[in-house]
Amino acid sequence: MEPFSPARLRAEYPILAEEIAPGVPLHYLDNGATGQMPRAVLDAVVRHEMHGRANVKRSVHTLAARATDAYDAARDEVARYLHVAARDVVFTAGCTMALNLVAQSYGSLLQPGDAIAVSELEHHANMVPWQMLAARRGLRLVRLPMTAGGRLDLAALPRALDGVKLAAVTHASNVTGAITPIAEVAALARAAGAVLVVDGAQMAPHGPVDVPALGCDFYVLSGHKLGAPNGVGVLWGRRPLLDAMPPFLGGGEMIRTVGFETSTYARPPQRFEAGTPPIAPAVGLAAACRFHAAIDHQAALAHQLALTGRLIEGLQARCGNRLRLLGPAGLDDRLPLVSFTIEGTHPHDLCQILDRRGVALRGGHHCAQVLHHAFGVAGSTRASLAAFNDAGDIDACLAGIEDALKVLLP
Ligand code: PMP
Repeated sequence: MEPFSPARLRAEYPILAEEIAPGVPLHYLDNGATGQMPRAVLDAVVRHEMHGRANVKRSVHTLAARATDAYDAARDEVARYLHVAARDVVFTAGCTMALNLVAQSYGSLLQPGDAIAVSELEHHANMVPWQMLAARRGLRLVRLPMTAGGRLDLAALPRALDGVKLAAVTHASNVTGAITPIAEVAALARAAGAVLVVDGAQMAPHGPVDVPALGCDFYVLSGHKLGAPNGVGVLWGRRPLLDAMPPFLGGGEMIRTVGFETSTYARPPQRFEAGTPPIAPAVGLAAACRFHAAIDHQAALAHQLALTGRLIEGLQARCGNRLRLLGPAGLDDRLPLVSFTIEGTHPHDLCQILDRRGVALRGGHHCAQVLHHAFGVAGSTRASLAAFNDAGDIDACLAGIEDALKVLLP
């Protein structure tokens, strides 16, 4: 593994050379929304489309064989990234679809009156499908609370999980950046007899995930957050659970036999991959996993957290007590992602003014209305970093905030 160098890494992303307007370079701090695409991914996708574009598992011609091999190899690569067996990896359209798959398929095995639990830190993708399931199946929806500091309240879990059949939590919050100690949550869930679903959307872009060590039962991620094309995501599930689950979508390639009135179904993962899968996006995701796995992630995270500290201190210096950080202000057990409010300003105004300086931030509720509500605010401004970010990005952001405050707080 090469020593970590943000400058060298930066050169791998063609879009980072982009100017937002003449003379205004891009400072991309919206990595939590979507990850930028490194050249290795762009090249892998173009190579596949130029030399191996065909449908998979259907035709016997050479291109079809290449496409099938590439798709199978992509599953192997993703499995390596998650330290799991490829046959337990299901390609989906993304994190949202993976969570809906579990909610609809595994959820159909739950009985009216059963309880399921969701933390209040969740993205809507890991909340709304459970609400829909609860309404459809007559289940009780239990709230897993957070601490005042914006982390999952572990002390509250033994009681909250009592009698719960399934719990859904995020590996890392897309608003506070807090990392959830999944192994501890999994132990508590196991003790309560609950299946644990983990949303890895924010965590997975920060390096390979040792899913077996986490001890959860389902793990999901979205390819685009790792810099893969849109339209591919992953569901990993424990084999006995996947085997017991009914199909989610019906169609080609998920069947064993089809009669006019009934069908029998293939084993997972094919059972959950009806229709033509996202072949080129999966090839891109495999390249993204290879790319991320080759980075010294400890060094990369230390670099990003140092920048996060610089950002937090800079915000505090410029905004004083108008500043409110949502979630932990410290740099332990967190991702390099910060959401904040500045009293007297609106997140969308801040984001618009910063965009003029080439600084890409996100403003709004970040698909986490319940969490914002718990913090007593409607929305926030978020900076989310990647390993390629540097001090110049942070300083451009802080200079932009200074400008914005002059305009918005005359
Ligand atoms: N969970 C979290 C924590 C996220 O940040 C996101 C993306 N914003 C999602 C789920 C949903 O991912 P997607 O929209 O790619 O399905």
